[in-house]
Amino acid sequence: MMKGGGIRHDYDLNTPDTTEVKCAGCGLELQGSWTDYHGQVICVTCGLPYQILFYEKDENGNITKPLHKPPEISVREELVPFIKKYYEETKRACGLGMFLTPYPDITENLKAFVEWLKAQPETEKFFKPEKANQP
Ligand SMILES: [Zn+2]
Repeated sequence: MMKGGGIRHDYDLNTPDTTEVKCAGCGLELQGSWTDYHGQVICVTCGLPYQILFYEKDENGNITKPLHKPPEISVREELVPFIKKYYEETKRACGLGMFLTPYPDITENLKAFVEWLKAQPETEKFFKPEKANQP
């Protein structure tokens, strides 16, 4: 059993796992706030989501121990430059991340980001399902 039953809180983010990590969206030191998905945080500045908790599992899928890895961005890599540009232009968070219930601030941020993203050139790929090249 992990310490604290595996439940960590925002104050745990100042651990060696996340210190000294610069956010790819805003360029500031990554400080996160938990989303509703286990182990995922959003940058409190620009909203870019990251997975920060990882586990090693046995052949049955049972967690055997925590893995210590650097944070991993939780969105498609090709979307990150747009989140960065959006933050530079608007200083708003993008509203992404896994939320099971609607949080008004985050929902408003997401609506504004999607509207902005649709107005950018060559962003159709983010809104249409990709079609396979095979018949
Ligand atoms: Zn950020």
